[in-house]
Order: sequence, then C-alpha cells, then structure tokens
Amino acid sequence: MTNYIIRGLGGNKTIRIFVAITTDMVEKARKIHNTSPVATAALGRAITGASIMGSMLKGEKNKLTLQIKGSNEIKSIVAVSDHTGNTKGYISHPNVELSINDKGKLDVGGAIGNKGKLIIIKDLGLKEPYIGQSNLITGEVAEDIAAYYMYSEQQPSVVSLGVLIDVDGSVKASGGFIIQPLPDVEEETLVMLEEAVKNAPSISSMVDSGMSGHEIMVEVLKNFDMEIIGKQEMDFKCDCDEEKIEKALISIGEEELTTIINEDEKAEIVCHFCKTKYNFNKKELKKLLAEAKE
Ligand SMILES: [Zn+2]
Repeated sequence: MTNYIIRGLGGNKTIRIFVAITTDMVEKARKIHNTSPVATAALGRAITGASIMGSMLKGEKNKLTLQIKGSNEIKSIVAVSDHTGNTKGYISHPNVELSINDKGKLDVGGAIGNKGKLIIIKDLGLKEPYIGQSNLITGEVAEDIAAYYMYSEQQPSVVSLGVLIDVDGSVKASGGFIIQPLPDVEEETLVMLEEAVKNAPSISSMVDSGMSGHEIMVEVLKNFDMEIIGKQEMDFKCDCDEEKIEKALISIGEEELTTIINEDEKAEIVCHFCKTKYNFNKKELKKLLAEAKE
C-alpha cells in the first residue's frame, strides 16, 4: 500500500481537511531507526503530522521542520518534510520502553512529557526561515500540533494522529488528519464540526479497517458536503547525498579536519535521518581540507 494524502474542501468551502495514510512510511522509519513500540508511535505521529503540514506548503523548494523537545525520556524528535509530503525523521531515544497508559494505549505522552516545546520551522525560500513555537500540552503530538496552530498561527485546527503497533512490533496501521475552518466559517458550522470530531472513530482504527483517505474524510465529516480537491503520494525519504555530507565536513573547519586526518586517517559519517553511511579515505579528506582552506 502506498502512502498518500488527500485534501478535501466542504461546508460551502469553509472547511478543509487533509487525510494521510502513512502505514508504510512509518514502518520504513521503524526499520531504519529500530524503534521500540512507544518510540515508533511517537516518531510515526510526528512524521505523519509533519508530512501533512509540509503538504500545505506552496513552493517547490519549501521545507517544514517539526521539532519536539520533550521533557521526559524522549528528548527530541525531528521530522522534515517538503511540499509533496515526503518526510524524513529522527528520534533521540529509539529504545524507550514504557507501559501502556490508563486508556490502554502506548503512552506517547508519558514518553515525550508535557513540559517541552513544539517548534515549527518553515523554510519558504526567503532570507530568514519562519520559526514558530508553542508549549507542549500533552506530549501526545496531535494536541500539541493543534495548540501550535492556535497559539502560533491563530489557526484553529483539529488534529488527529494515530499509529497502531502489531504484536511483533511492526506498524499495523498509521495515519492522521488535520481539519481547519477557513476565515468565512459560520458559527453553526463550527459547532457541527466539533460534534463530528467528537463522534469520529480513532484514526488508527479506521486505517486498520482498510478505509481509504476518502472514506475516512466522509466518515469524519459525514454531515458536510465534502469534495476531494487533491491527492498526492509521499514516502519516508531522505535527501542526503555525498555532496551534502562533504559540505558538512568542510564546515567543521580546518582544525577539526586536520585532527581527523592525522588521528583517524578516515571518516565515517552516518546520516541521522536515514542511517546511510558515507565513508571518506585520507585522500578524500585532504581534498576537503584544501576546500576548507579556500
Ligand atoms: Zn539521509
């Protein structure tokens, strides 16, 4: 099954919804980062949220970084997406083990904590990136993204993210949706929306039952006349390459590079996001050193 996002518009064009099916890409992330169940759920929710938020970007070279600075065992999660929704992600403590919470679910909020920050960086190709941040509310990710939209962008949003883990630790189902009322929305529509969201089944159970993005949109917003206005496929995808790693090596400076050349005679750089290894021998490092001196 491929990963995709559908976007829908309805309620006389005053409500928009993005629904993402991300089971495969979150499973890919789990394999790369070898995450424990609660870390898979946390990383998966962040990747799914970032992917949807990234897909809202307009420009081809725009990027969105979602960073969670947790106050508990998971100290940091970073997910970076582009305008197509392709996302790469990283988690600082992939082995966190926590029991299930009192709702019988993996305790993502307990693993992340509720005293940290959510930081959103939008690189829109301007001189300076846009940086917004808000306090974590629950550490469950979805509520924290909704709070970010409210406080940092004054955009009310309903955010739902869910990852269901199979008995063998693999990802059984993953997905999410973001619903946003648009400026001309009527009070009555907002009340209806609130009611609809309250009664909606959990996103992970809907994805697990095999519902498509379209079917999920119709199920959640059944009292609204919704229309699909776009669909795009995406994946867990890293954009690292030899050239970028070389640039990073050059940027550590002459002194560091000289030390590496003299002491180790080689370097192995591992990409944080996809774990790809880049190896440099002495000759290659000397070439980079020469470039650093320029
Ligand atoms: Zn990479």
